[in-house]
Amino acid sequence: MSATKPLASLSLDLDDKWTYLKTRGDRAWETLPSYLGVLIPRVLDFLSSRDLTITVFVVGQDAALRRNRDVLRSLAEAGHEVGNHSFRHEPWMHTYAPAEVEREIVIAEENIERATGRRPVGFRGPGFSLPPVALPILARRGYRYDASTFPTYLIPLARACYFMTANLTPDERRQRQSLGGTFTSGLRPITPYRWQTAAGPLLEIPVTTLPCLKVPIHASYLMCLATISPRLARWYFDLALWACRSAGTAPSLLLHPTDFLGCDDTHDLAFFPGMALPSEIKLELMSELIRRLSSVYTVVPLEEHARSLGRDASLPIARMEKEEAVPPPRPAYRKSA
Ligand SMILES: [Zn+2]
Repeated sequence: MSATKPLASLSLDLDDKWTYLKTRGDRAWETLPSYLGVLIPRVLDFLSSRDLTITVFVVGQDAALRRNRDVLRSLAEAGHEVGNHSFRHEPWMHTYAPAEVEREIVIAEENIERATGRRPVGFRGPGFSLPPVALPILARRGYRYDASTFPTYLIPLARACYFMTANLTPDERRQRQSLGGTFTSGLRPITPYRWQTAAGPLLEIPVTTLPCLKVPIHASYLMCLATISPRLARWYFDLALWACRSAGTAPSLLLHPTDFLGCDDTHDLAFFPGMALPSEIKLELMSELIRRLSSVYTVVPLEEHARSLGRDASLPIARMEKEEAVPPPRPAYRKSA
């Protein structure tokens, strides 16, 4: 690792097949169909051959199943950070009562620790759902950071597309009304800040979107572009890296299982954007993207990114109670160590 490169963090939300089906209202989710046995060895192989360690946000329900214990433990044994991605993976978690939010976090944490041998210190809400009450719970439980915010204006558009193809009852439709966030999610900063909570401060590391325009730059979005043209996806990612460097933003990028799985692995997710591509093409593109990212940044897990930010006294402070307060923009750029 070169000491001269700034830091970028990389994380994978380990959404299992059943979580995609559940969000879509497909009852087949109830038997908890899984691809973790294929996905995790593939991801581990990909990362180890590039000498990378990242953060993997694990869903508590998967950690609770004996069948997943070995593959989940293999993530921690390979040196990857294991984060908490809630227990039931319900992107409408922000509609829960406070006690239910706490249960989601605590039960997931206990099961993830039991399965992997590592206690999570980072949280990402399912589908970027972040109930205000989650923040003091995380701070009180000793979490170092939250990574649930996704500052983009495109969420209402993405949600409209999702509703067009989902198979939902009127109640489920109501429950998912603010799925993924609202237009105001786009007002949130793309650079890290600290939440001020009743239980003390908690670092927030947002999923990075394109500086200024705040359009997504994570791998699943690039996979969608690649269905139009792989060259377009590469060009867009280069533009994003250039914009991050110019803005002095240390990117925190996000991966999903569907970035590593193709139509040759599963047909059940054909409704998901980018799933028309075969895994070979996806892995080639992922390889290119990681090569480009690693050429300008030292790629680390979020925990390490958080540790480096922990020393930064200039981070803005935000408060989120019932009504969310948007923190002020960061006053000046400081290069990551
Ligand atoms: Zn997820």
